[in-house]
This record gives sequence, structure tokens and C-alpha cells, in this order.
Amino acid sequence: MNQFFIDIALPVPVDRTFTYIVSPELQPLVIPGKRALVPFGKKHLTGVIVGLPATTNNRGLKPVTDILDAKPTFSPEMLLLTKWISEYYFTPWGEVLKAATPQGLSQESKMIVRLILQDIKAVLQATKNSAPQRHAIIHALAGGKSLTFTQIKQKLHAKSIHAVLNEMQQRGWISITEEIGKAKAKPKIERFASLTALGLKAVMDRTSVSSFPSKQLSILEELKNETSSEINAVEINSFLKRHHGSLSSVKTLVKKGLVNISKHEVFRRSEYDPIEPPPKIALNANQQHALNEIINATTAGSFKAFLLHGITGSGKTQVYIEAIRNVIANGKTAIVLVPEISLTPQTVRRFKAHFGNNVAVMHSQMSIGERYDAWRMAHQGKVKIIIGARSAIFAPLENIGLIVIDEEHDSSYKQYDAAPRYNARDVALVRASQIKSVVVLGSATPSAESYANTINEKYMLLELPHRVDTARLPTIDIIDMAEERRRIYEELKKEIEISAKPFPRRLPDSSISYLLKTQIAGRLERKEGIILLQNRRGFSHVMECYECGYVEKCGNCEVSLTFHSTKKHLRCHYCGFVKKPPPVCPKCRSTELRMHVFGTQQVQQELQELFPKAVILRMDRDTTSSKGAHNKILKQFESGEADILLGTQMVAKGLDFPRVTLVGVISADTQMLLPDFRASEGTFQLLTQVAGRAGRSNLAGEVVIQTLQPAHYSLKHVLLHDFRGFYQEELEYRRELNYPPFSRIVLVEFSGEKENEVQHHAKKFTDFLTDHNKQNRFIILGPADAAIPKIRNVYRKHIVVKDLKNSDPSGLFLRSALLKAKAQYEASSLVIHKKIRMIIDVDPQGMM
Ligand code: ADP
Ligand code: ZN
Ligand code: ZN
Repeated sequence: MNQFFIDIALPVPVDRTFTYIVSPELQPLVIPGKRALVPFGKKHLTGVIVGLPATTNNRGLKPVTDILDAKPTFSPEMLLLTKWISEYYFTPWGEVLKAATPQGLSQESKMIVRLILQDIKAVLQATKNSAPQRHAIIHALAGGKSLTFTQIKQKLHAKSIHAVLNEMQQRGWISITEEIGKAKAKPKIERFASLTALGLKAVMDRTSVSSFPSKQLSILEELKNETSSEINAVEINSFLKRHHGSLSSVKTLVKKGLVNISKHEVFRRSEYDPIEPPPKIALNANQQHALNEIINATTAGSFKAFLLHGITGSGKTQVYIEAIRNVIANGKTAIVLVPEISLTPQTVRRFKAHFGNNVAVMHSQMSIGERYDAWRMAHQGKVKIIIGARSAIFAPLENIGLIVIDEEHDSSYKQYDAAPRYNARDVALVRASQIKSVVVLGSATPSAESYANTINEKYMLLELPHRVDTARLPTIDIIDMAEERRRIYEELKKEIEISAKPFPRRLPDSSISYLLKTQIAGRLERKEGIILLQNRRGFSHVMECYECGYVEKCGNCEVSLTFHSTKKHLRCHYCGFVKKPPPVCPKCRSTELRMHVFGTQQVQQELQELFPKAVILRMDRDTTSSKGAHNKILKQFESGEADILLGTQMVAKGLDFPRVTLVGVISADTQMLLPDFRASEGTFQLLTQVAGRAGRSNLAGEVVIQTLQPAHYSLKHVLLHDFRGFYQEELEYRRELNYPPFSRIVLVEFSGEKENEVQHHAKKFTDFLTDHNKQNRFIILGPADAAIPKIRNVYRKHIVVKDLKNSDPSGLFLRSALLKAKAQYEASSLVIHKKIRMIIDVDPQGMM
């Protein structure tokens, strides 16, 4: 008989698939997309069947241990999509598939070590001085314990124990066996009770059961009350709790043939507050136009992408809801992606109100079981709509009619901390194009890339230029903090002249301007809500002149230079350009060049001193790390218990509080001066978003923005609510410097504990890559120190590759060059003993 082979993609960092033999019993079960348990090295791993080769040249193939799925985990569509992700983001296919599988579903095996030694005491004595490692291992295993390799390593604080363990096994001291762990995610099974036909008859005429103990009688009665022809069984535990019954009475009734117990799989659904039916909303003309275009596209059954640009509160979500309603009515399904942070119960409730149990939610704060169940409901077609954060783009829905990406510009769609480093927005577009479906990208502040795609007509632009209610756009004031400082100085001078006190060495430094202070005071009096933004992320390494706002930038890359405290110089982390920091400001000769930025905590203190009676809530990474903390803060603020909500960019997104009439930005510079080519775009988006939090009702809204850069173009356009104007200017600058969307950026990062080694490896890779770029079809910058050059004692070097869309439109040339360079580098670095880490990040979001 012919051999039967399958190719398996495994979650290992090797860019290939592996061929196995299938035994005759398992052959009928083989379908691509099913998971399989296979031996790999000394262990067992779960992989996915991705191919059925007719022949193979590989020898010594091992047999598959088991086929794990009844229905394939991955449809042919999903195999195609994950394959694309694997190639585009330079990640092994098996690792992509693992990322797209619900957590806790994979089985893996572990090596378990046990002591089989007879005379433990003697060996302990003998090894005490001569072989301390063996001694410690026996000690750890004594008393019949079983430990995994990793546990032993941890106990011994040892780097490598394989050799010692092997030797101990040969001496017959220990046994090493492989054990396959169980999957953590399992369907939940519950027991249900129902009346049998006999039982029903007995309750009806009663004579045959009149002699029963009252406990059993009441169970029969209640079972009859709670069941009907539609619901013929009730879950036992909750039933017994409700009626204070006991399981033994039920079991007796089962023996008498009156009650039946059955087991069913149930789905865990996360609970949300009771949901009222949604209000009937008639769409306005702009919304209706957008909806019509989307519906035309979804019924046409071909791929199409829309950019729905609508200012905050213009009714975008309502358009999504109506479009989904239409899609569902036509028997199709939909995915809605929202940034993790906006996946609040508020949003979910709104969708549940419209679509009830047709919606399942997927997000990272759910338990493994809940997430698994949401996934299974989609997989089995039990729900039609999945709403979730980034990874919900992998939802196993079939027949998708529409994918919505709300806040499409949001950087959280890009996974940056683990492979695959995918952008869910871009994956959505690829998924939709592969299955001929429709994508709606929605935002009040679209990304420059998406906006450019409407100009070149890859996407169709739909606009909602007005707010749905009577609310007007807020008025915006920009406060020049250098000016403010001069004013304080003048006042102080006057005061000192009068009081004849000595002049202070350092000027009193306030993060809150006179205007903002007055505005806050007024709101507190009128009991209106205040939101204050202080985004302190990152920027602390950029020098800014506190007198005039001057910032040193790289002449080649137009990004802020960052200050290195160890080497005491300013550096461009894109191209490596270095210069000495100027002793005085080159523009105004001031010596006040500073890197200081107030954190949210300091601002809170200052506010509390200024307004002792005000209740201030702080929302940042520190105050929202525990589960539910984020929502608790929002509830407190919504109810009016607190006056001021102060926080990082978390306060800028998606919140809808009618009582807020003032938004203050403590420093717009934190975002503007990030050493990143998207800094201006980020500023425009953040300020526009946070400004949108003010005046969402008939109360007029005001926004106060403080900055040392009052003339910056991103602020100018925020002030005028001028989205087009901003993107025109921004795209011009991107074109000049070859930044996306005019180029494709790939960031290659090398990191490790020894700086010279990291540099050496980065340089070696750069040289290989340069060899494949003889005609300069792309630009290689670096290697240079990353903007944050060292994190927890790990040095980081970046190589920034700009692939020009003119000379390499498809990106294939760079792709193949990177693959070749990577292969050469890996081949030449066999001895790097895992001390150096290399990451390829395609279309990176942040470049820090
Ligand atoms: P966005 O998603 O653009 O911020 P929403 O869809 O959330 O806007 O709409 C903002 C508010 O206005 C919501 O409370 C929504 O119910 C309401 N709304 C949306 N469309 C209309 C409409 N055509 N008429 C009246 N109210 C509407
Ligand atoms: Zn200056
Ligand atoms: Zn530079």
C-alpha cells in the first residue's frame, strides 16, 4: 500500500513545515485545517495539517500520534489567510496558526523526571561534596516527587541540566518519561434534569406518588413548573439551589424512572447588565448615503473597502449597526473590531441590544473558557457577529459579509510585542479581499495611510461631517506655556518689588496655566465634568527649550533627537546621526533646555493643592492594571461622584459623557516630540479625539491645549477642525522624506546583553542586506541605537529599511532580499547561542 503523508505546520521558530506518516486507522480522519498531535524532537506538539503531499524525499519520517479535531479548526480560507500573514510578517506558519487558535487549546508534552533510586541516603551522602548538582537534583526529587525539566532548572538556578539528567538516567537513578498535558480550554458540560413521560403522568394524577417524601414530590412539581414543550430540561445545580432540593432525591427519582438526567455542552457567555431594547433611530442623510453605499457593496459580493470618516458623535456606530443588520438578514456574518480600550460594556451592550445572542465578544480580559466558547460559537455558526479586539480578526466565522474596523488609526491594532507582528486592520483587508467581502474602516481621525488610499481610490471615502445631535464642536484655545512663564516672571518681579523679598533661585513651575485654572474653577462651581489629558509616554529623552520651545531634530529624518545620558550626546535613532547637546538654546540663548515632563501623578498633586475640594480620578496604566478598574473609574466619573478625570491617552478614546464641558491638555508636546515620524499625526489624532470629549450635549464645550510649540502645524489644524488641511500638509512631508505611505518600512531589531555583540550582529546583517541592494531599490538606515537604547539591561539596535514604492511597488524585491540576508545571517551565526535576538517588524507602528 502507498504511504500516506501529511505536512504539519508546528509552532516552532523554524520557517518550514514538517512531513509525517499517517497510520491507516487515522487516514479517514485527515482533513487540512485539523490539528494533529505529533512527536517533535523529544516531545509532542500540536500542529495543523496544511498539506497532503503525494510523495516526499524526506526519510525516517515519524507517524502522527493523533488527529485532534472532528471539524477542522481552520477552514481553507483561514489557512490561506494565515499563510499570507506568515509570509508578509516573516513569521513561521505554525506560529501564526497558534496565534489564531484559542488560547489553552494546544496540547504539549513535558518531560517528567522521577527518582527510581533504591538507596537514596547512600547516594545523597556520596554525592554531597563530589557532585553538588546531582546531589541537589536527588534532594529535590526525594519523597516521590515528579518534576519537569524546567522546574528542576529553576530549583537549581542552572542554565543547562540535560547532560546531568541523561547521565543520572543511565546510572538508573532517575526515570525520564514524556507526558502529554491536557488542553486547558475545554467545553463546559452541565447536567440537566427533565421529567420522563412516566414522571409527567405521575405529577398529573398524583395518586401514584402521594406516598412519596415531600422533598421528592416538590422536585417533581417544580420540574413540571419549570419545563415546557420548548424548554424540556433544567440545569440541575441551579435548579436545586432555587428549591433547596438535594441531589440524592433527584437520583432516587431517576431510579424510579420518573426523572431523566442528561449531559449537555453549554456556552459560557460573559454577563452584561440587563439590556433595554434599542431606541428607534432614523438615520440622517449622510448616514443613509454611507449605509446605501455599504449595502450596495455587500450585496454585490465582491471585495470593496470604505473609509468612513466621521467626527466624534457623528453616528458612525449607528451606520455599522444598520449595515450589519442588512448583512445578517442576507444570511451572512460580520466581524467588528474595536481597540481593546473601547471594548467597554457600553459598546458591547449597544450591539447586544440590537443583535441579542447573535453577538459574541472576544477580548483579553475574558477567562480562557469564555474565550474558547466565544470562538466555538463562531466556529459552529451559533453566533453571526463577533465583536472584539485585535485577535478577533481570526474569528472562525464563515460567509463573512462585512468587517468593521472602528478607530482604524488606533495603534493597538498592531501587535508589536510577539510574533506574528500583524496589523489587524491590514489583515482584515487581506481577509476580505481573499473572500470577496467588504471592509469599513471608521475613524474621526483616519491614519495618513488610509486617507492616502482614498485619494488614490483604493478605498471609497464616506463622510459624516456633522454631529447627530445639536451639539456644536467645542471652541479651542491654545496656550503658549513659554508666554505663560514670562507672565509669571513679571508678576513675581512685581510682587518682590512690593514685598522686598529675595528673588527665588528657581522660578515656581506650574503645569497648569492661568486660563486652564480659571476654566476648571468655573466648571467645579457649576458641577460640570472636566477631562484632563497628560500623555507622559516616552518623550522624557527629548530636550526642549523651556523659554522658546526649540527642539533639536535630525536633518536627515526630521525626527526629534534623543539624549543619551551615558554618552552625553544627542542622537537620531533612525540613521545614527550624533551631535553634542548645545549648552544654550541655539534660538533664544536660554539655558533652560529641559527634558523634564510632569507625570499624571504630579499633575494630580498640583491640582489637588489648587482645588482642595475637587474629587479627582486618575486613569493611567498604574490605576487600571487590575481587572475592572478601568470601568470602575469611568462609572464613578459618569455618575458625577468625581469632578475631574485626569489621565493618559486612555481618557481620549471613545468616552461619551454629556456632562463634560471642559477638556484640558496639560502638554501637547509629549506626543508631538516623540522621536517618531508619526509624531505629528499622533498629536493631531490625540488632540482631535480628546477635544471630541467636550460638549457632547447641549452644553457648550471648551478645550484648552497647553504647549511650548504653539505654531506647530498639527495644532493649527486641530484648532480649525481641519482634517483635510492637516493630511495635505502631513502627506507632503511624508513624500519628501520617503515615509509611509510613500514607502514601506521594515524595522529590524537586534538585542542582547552585550552591547558590542549586539552591534556586531546588527552590522553583519546590515552588510548582508546591503549586498542584495546593489541598485539601491530600498534605503537602509543604521544600525543605530533604538530610541530607548537599553531596556532592563538589554541593548537594542535598530536597522530601518525604507522600501520605495516607486522602485519596488509590490515590495517583493525587498522581501526576497530580507529573506536572503536572514538566511545568510542565520547560517553564519550558528554559534550565537541564543544570546542575540533578532526581530523583523513589518510596517511598525512605533519606532521607539
Ligand atoms: P460615533 O460612533 O460616530 O461616535 P454614534 O453612532 O455613537 O457616533 O452616535 C452618537 C449618539 O447619537 C449615539 O447615542 C447614537 O445613538 C445617536 N445617534 C446616532 N445616529 C443618530 C440619528 N440619526 N439620530 C439621532 N441620534 C442618533
Ligand atoms: Zn530657546
Ligand atoms: Zn536621522
